[in-house]
Amino acid sequence: MSSRDAERTDVGVERRSVLHGAALAAGGVLLGGAIDLAAAGDALAGAQPTVYTRGDWNARRPKSWAVMRPSPPDRIVVHHTATANSANHSKGHAFALSRAIQNYHMDTNGWNDTGQQLTISRGGHIMEGRNRSLKAIAEGHHLVGAHTANHNSHTIGIENEGNYVSATPPRDLMGALTETCAWLCLAYGLDPADAIVGHRDYNATACPGDRLYALLPQLRSDVRSRLRGLKARLMQRGDSDVPEEHLPTYPDVPADESRALFYHGPAVGPRDN
Ligand SMILES: [Zn+2]
Repeated sequence: MSSRDAERTDVGVERRSVLHGAALAAGGVLLGGAIDLAAAGDALAGAQPTVYTRGDWNARRPKSWAVMRPSPPDRIVVHHTATANSANHSKGHAFALSRAIQNYHMDTNGWNDTGQQLTISRGGHIMEGRNRSLKAIAEGHHLVGAHTANHNSHTIGIENEGNYVSATPPRDLMGALTETCAWLCLAYGLDPADAIVGHRDYNATACPGDRLYALLPQLRSDVRSRLRGLKARLMQRGDSDVPEEHLPTYPDVPADESRALFYHGPAVGPRDN
């Protein structure tokens, strides 16, 4: 059998015929005028950046298929990969990074597959991570990953290549991250002001590094501007219906965090089971 990833087609949950059904049901606030689901669909199609699939980067087959849940995530967690700040911005390098992370997560951590749903290289190449992540996003479902301990049931994770404890992320990476977050906010009906957080907002870790973390307010603003530019006329969910246990707890950043390659803080916890 080929080691290439063969995507399974049966989801086990009903495909939602209307985008943002949960957002509408939740009674969120309205962004940008009248509700227009057809326009929202067009906006979503136009909002998706180029995302390289697992087939593109030659992913290994997962040990088991990831769990998909019908309700959308309520937070987008920004991580760094805690790998070198490579000057190689090529697509080939990006694909090698995705393979290296998958190998580490499966062979060293013993996980079933890549933990995070999406990966962005320093060159701004965006890649699918965990199996069926693109399918889940397209259908408005949550694909349970392994990236933020005790909060994997309701968060989608983006790993950004590099270490941003003291270095500033490249412009190409930030541009791709902005596009990715806008696409996810549209797909899931999320308000960027609430939805975009850093790993350290939930777990005791320096991830995504002081420098990238300090850029999150600008990222939220840029994502909102991009949504307006897309004329995204859809309901956004506010936080009124988000359970308290889903909200960030802002633990202290540990002074002596492990500096192992690929380690960027606790990724799975007892409440993820
Ligand atoms: Zn992290």
